[in-house]
Amino acid sequence: MTLVVTEAIVLHSFDYLESSRIFKLVTREAGVRSVLARGARRSKRRFGSALDLYAQGTAELQTKSGRDLDTLSAFDVTRARPQLAAQLSRFTGASAIAELTLRFTSEEADPGLFDAVESAFDDIAAAPPDRARDVTIESAWRVVSELGLAPTVDNCAECHAPVGRDAAVLFSHPAGGALCARCGHLARSARTLPPEARAALRDWLSGASHPLADVNDARAHQRLLREFLREHLADDRPLRAFDVWEHDAWTGGVA
Ligand SMILES: [Zn+2]
Repeated sequence: MTLVVTEAIVLHSFDYLESSRIFKLVTREAGVRSVLARGARRSKRRFGSALDLYAQGTAELQTKSGRDLDTLSAFDVTRARPQLAAQLSRFTGASAIAELTLRFTSEEADPGLFDAVESAFDDIAAAPPDRARDVTIESAWRVVSELGLAPTVDNCAECHAPVGRDAAVLFSHPAGGALCARCGHLARSARTLPPEARAALRDWLSGASHPLADVNDARAHQRLLREFLREHLADDRPLRAFDVWEHDAWTGGVA
């Protein structure tokens, strides 16, 4: 057994046997981990509000090489983020970010990714309800960027030639971004990215903010993000939390 003490955020949790829970955590020093919290359902005292989704704190993990499940021996919460659970558009946005993180990451330590996920939850928690969707889109692209999957915006994803900055471009999910006219001509499938959508993507990937004009813009960006994630996932399992987030935003069924 090796003791790992690391900053961690709860991304997912479910009951295990009579009295325990299993958590999926993204950690700063040990990547994404599955951990068993023995007795967590019986005694609230032991782990306290660490049981809540998206809570952040210092976790003590007992790890054993060759075992997929660590044991959580303590979790001292520093940020509980109750604002995420208190409002539906924030909660569904945070769920989409958690799913994205779980589906794309490994046990490799990645402090940059941890920081992007931490900022995503902080920013969504602080967002007014009618801005939560935009902030989620923006945060998701930053997580994608930290995963090393950032699409190209101003250079051709195939031949690396610069692409006129203010024009509409063809955007290819399999190629990984914008295409020049020549490569666009040869591409099997690509969608047109208008200049304004391109500017938004450029800003988000560079860490800048870029408010969207209206709900139609947001819908188009959710679709672009969904198609991009689907293309780069290693398997065909559905993105359930993403679907819920996208659906709520579309129907306006958000409190
Ligand atoms: Zn090209």
